[in-house]
Parts: sequence; structure tokens; C-alpha cells
Amino acid sequence: MLRDKLAVLSDARFIFALIIALGVAAEFVSGSTVQIWSFVLINVLIAQSINVLTGIAGQISLGHAGFLAIGAYGSALLMKSLGLPLPLSLVAATLMGAAAGWILSFAAGRVREFYLAMMTLGFGMISYEVVREWTGVTGGVAGLPGVPSPALRTLNVFGVNLGEVGYFHLMLGVTAIVLWLLRNFITSPYGRAFFAIHVSEVAAGSIGIPRAGTKREAYTLSAALMGLAGGFYAHLVGYLGPESFHLHRSVEALVMAVVGGLGTLSGPVLGAALFTYLPEQLQFFTDYQFMVYGLILMLSFVLLPRGLAGLVLPRTRFIKRLTPLRSADADGRGTEAPAAIPARDDETTPLLRVSALAISFLGLRALDDVTLELKPGHILGLVGPNGSGKSTLVNVISGIYRPDAGRVVFEGRDITGLADYRVARLGIIRTFQDPRLVPGFSVRENVLLGAHRLYRQNQLAAAVDWPSALREEKRMLAGADKVIAMAGLSALADSIVRDLPYGDQRMTELARVLLADPRMVLLDEPTAGLSEGELKKLALVLQHLKQQDIAVVLIEHHMEFLRDLVDEVVVLNSGRVIYRGDMAGMYRSAQVIEAYLGGDSHAAAPAGGQGGRDA
Ligand code: ADP
Ligand code: MG
Repeated sequence: MLRDKLAVLSDARFIFALIIALGVAAEFVSGSTVQIWSFVLINVLIAQSINVLTGIAGQISLGHAGFLAIGAYGSALLMKSLGLPLPLSLVAATLMGAAAGWILSFAAGRVREFYLAMMTLGFGMISYEVVREWTGVTGGVAGLPGVPSPALRTLNVFGVNLGEVGYFHLMLGVTAIVLWLLRNFITSPYGRAFFAIHVSEVAAGSIGIPRAGTKREAYTLSAALMGLAGGFYAHLVGYLGPESFHLHRSVEALVMAVVGGLGTLSGPVLGAALFTYLPEQLQFFTDYQFMVYGLILMLSFVLLPRGLAGLVLPRTRFIKRLTPLRSADADGRGTEAPAAIPARDDETTPLLRVSALAISFLGLRALDDVTLELKPGHILGLVGPNGSGKSTLVNVISGIYRPDAGRVVFEGRDITGLADYRVARLGIIRTFQDPRLVPGFSVRENVLLGAHRLYRQNQLAAAVDWPSALREEKRMLAGADKVIAMAGLSALADSIVRDLPYGDQRMTELARVLLADPRMVLLDEPTAGLSEGELKKLALVLQHLKQQDIAVVLIEHHMEFLRDLVDEVVVLNSGRVIYRGDMAGMYRSAQVIEAYLGGDSHAAAPAGGQGGRDA
């Protein structure tokens, strides 16, 4: 297949060779060619900036030219007026862009979609006006001439005068490093987190990924790239005018990234090259540029949903090619048994205490005075008719809903109303009634997301592939392989989750829970859609959790499955606890029989339609 043949295009060795070839070739081609290549590099940075924000993290910006302006004027003025050396002024431009992105992200964290688009548009418009009107600093419409530049022979780096080819070499080197850093970052837990909030904020929160913090990272990183591009641009052209930072520029950035292929690293490079050359080659393109861009943008979503890269390249990997580190030499956690088995008196100290919990939706009491306790190593079956409040209870405990009244205490700590990702970080990990996975990720990538709360290496270590970060990743990969095997998914580890049957998706979500090294697990109807074989695996996993002294809340309609596993059942009806005790007692409870077990209720016909029946 063509796509497999062209996969080499995204191979690191190919890209490395291409960079060297371009660097050498620049010595032999004409000055104008070097000039165009230089613009391509700047556009590569711009397109990657959009790619990180929109393609990977799923956030929107219509005002990215604002960050470009900040970097461009920042670097130009620092060098021109303060005499800062080029490397420092470029670093400063990057940091100024990052700072602007970080500030904007606070506002972005409060609004969504349409409003977010409008807000960033506003930012772009304001930036443009500031550049136009702040004459004292930017030169206003007259522009800012005399920016140190290779064309004017005024660009010195540590005493060496940099010509156009030298400047191109500098940009090429920096762009190569940026691409390398991005690749490392995208294949790290932080890159996966970007994509997880893109696809499902709820799922991300449930495994300890903070929404707001992750979006802030995405805006900061994206704006930093734009700031750097701005700095490079300023010195390449030697003159800055406001028109370079018009809304057009923001749209152009989007077009390059979208047509190239969002969510890939090579796509935006293709897009940048294409949209630097096209206007050079085609006069009508320059005349009707905005119209053409608009048209391309409209058509590309219909004809090329994954851009050029989607046509020719395989999907982006969010995982490193590393050999998993086997557990014996692993110094960390993962799926190992807890080092110290808790003292026996833990048997009497509940891990979880829920007291007098109540929550209403539009006047409907979904939970009413719910009280229960759960000890480590115990499995609590949570049953009741549809709509009785089971999922709602799990949603309250896991921090998705804030209760109107009552308390949730975990390990002696009041966690009522704590944000979901904070709850997850305490080791309370859940699954959803409908599996929430990243459909475009492989099984292994999805499972690795579960480890998010366990990573100790920071973003910087991840971006430079620091040895300790790689070691940690290898350890997590080994842990992932182990839980994938437990879930019976080893043969499917590299399959894309979207293409898998429902049962495999459920098991993937379960493996993700296991990798999170939980203290307590909340499973919302985990048997729905499972085959007999998968049911057995699930039962084994539950016993394994029990042995590890992990507490489990198990929402289930499948009574036969529950009977062999649970220590206690709680029956909900219309949001109220109508029974709490052992299974045998439940069958004798008149209230339970009337509300749930009696007649042809769910207990007799378990949801999901599997073979298990309860007489
Ligand atoms: P179960 O999981 O036991 O089938 P749920 O906890 O999902 O039941 O729902 C309990 C009740 O609360 C239902 O009547 C449901 O419609 C309602 N409910 C749950 N979540 C919401 C929500 N976000 N908004 C409005 N009503 C809700
Ligand atoms: Mg439910």
C-alpha cells in the first residue's frame, strides 16, 4: 500500500537525512531559494504551533498571529534597542509568546468552543490594533525598519556576521530541535494527556488528567512556538509592519496545519512547504489569497479530513518504541502488589464512608440519604432498577457531580466535591457505563493513559527524552503489557480501539484501571457486552484486586456473577438504599423483591443479554 511505502517520510532517519541535505544544498542554491526555504521553516513552526494546540490538544485559536507579533516585535526591539544578542532575543521571544499564551489560557479555561473561538479572535484583533496604534514602540503603520537581519548584513552572533545562508542554517537547526522535542513530548504521558482531553475530558479527568492545567500547557507551548517563529521572522525580513500580523496570518496558519494534516508531525511540515511555494508560484493565489484560503479550508474538511498527511502517512503514534523494563529491576509501582500489606485492623477501618448523600436533578431526587461503607479488599455490589441512582452515586464519589448534601470520606479525608482528577489521583479509579476511551489510540496507548497519576518525571524531562523519563516510560510499558495480558488483550495490544468489538473495549478500560495502581475501583456495569470468556477474566481480575486489598464498587445486574464475588450488596431504589447486607438476605427482603427482583425484572434478565441467568 502506498501509505506503508511512504511511511518512511515520517521516519526519524529520513527527516534527519533531509535536514542535512537541505543544510548542504543551501550552500549551492540561489539566494532567493534560500529565502523561500527560510520562510518554509518559519511556516513549519507556525503550523506546528497550530498542530499542538488544535490537532493534538483539540483547542481552538483564531488569533494566533497575535503571538507571532509578540515574538517578532519582542525579538526585534530587544536586539535593536537593547542590543541583546540574537540567541537571547530569540529565547526571549519564545518566552514572551509562552507567557502571552499562558495568560490567555486562563480565560480559555472558562469558555468553550464557539466562545473560545470568538475570544481568541478578539485577542488577534487586539494584538493587531496594538501593533498599529502603539507608534512609539512598534512604529505603527509606518512600521519598524532596521531590524538586525542577514539581508542588511547587520545580524551578528557572537561577533560573527550572519549571512542569509548562515541564518538559514541556524533556523534549520533550531527547527530540527523543535521537531525532535515535539516528537518526544507527543509520545510521552503529557502528549497522550493532550490528546485525551481533546477526545474526552470526562475520561481524562477519571484517570487524573487535569483539564484546565492541560489546556494551559497546550496554549503555552503553542504560543511559545509562535513566539519563536515571530523572532525568526523579524530578523529574516528586517522590517516589521502591522499587516504581517493581520487576521489573514492567523487564518493562513490554520490553513497550513489543516491541509497538511492536524494531529501528525509531518502533516504541518507538508502544509507549510505547500503554502509557502504556492503563493510564490501562482499570481492569482496572491491576488485572491484570502478567498482561496477560505475555499481550501471549507473543502479540506470534506475532502481531506485528515489532511495531506492522512492520505500518505500512517497514524501518529503516541507511544515510544522502547523495550519494556521487566519488573524485577523496576524500582517503582505499576501493578506490583503494595509493598506492605496493611495491618489487619484495616479490616475494621473503612476505606470509604459515604454518609447521607443527596443530589437532585431538576427536582428529581437521584440520590436520597445514601449511606454506605467499604473496607479495603472488599467488593460491594451495587444493584437496583434502571434509573435508581447507581451511576449517579459513582459519579458523586468520583467527583463528576457535587452532591447537594452529605459527605464522601476516603481514607479519613473528606473528598466531597473534590475535582474528578484530584479524586483519581488519590487512587479512586472508575470505568463508565459506556466505555470512555480514545478511539484513535491503540489498546496499549489507551491502557498507558491509566498510569497518568503515577508519572513522576516532568514535561521537560519528557520533551528531551531524559534517561530517567525513558526509564519510567519503560517501566510503565512493562506494567501495561502485564495488565493487557490479564485482560486477555495481548494479541490486540497494537490494534486501534475504534476497530475493536465492544467487549474488547470494555476490557481495555478495565486494563487502564489496573495500570492506575488504584486503592479503590468503581465499575459501572462492567459485564455488559462481555462474552463468557471475558466474564471469567473479569472475575479473575476482581479476585486479583481483592487480594491486593483494593476496594471495589461493582454496579451489576448479573446476579450470578455477583454472588460468587461480593462481600456485601447495597440495593438502591429511586435514589434510596432499600437493602444493605449479604446476597442471601437480599433475596429474602420484601422491599427488594417488590422493587427489583420481583416478576420479570432486570435480575431475571440481566442487562447486556449474556447467558448468565439468576433463577
Ligand atoms: P442508574 O445508573 O441506576 O440506572 P442513574 O444514576 O444513571 O441510574 O440515574 C438516576 C436518575 O438520575 C435517573 O432518573 C436519571 O435520569 C437522573 N440523572 C442522572 N444524571 C442526570 C443528569 N446529569 N441530569 C439530569 N438527570 C440525571
Ligand atoms: Mg447506570
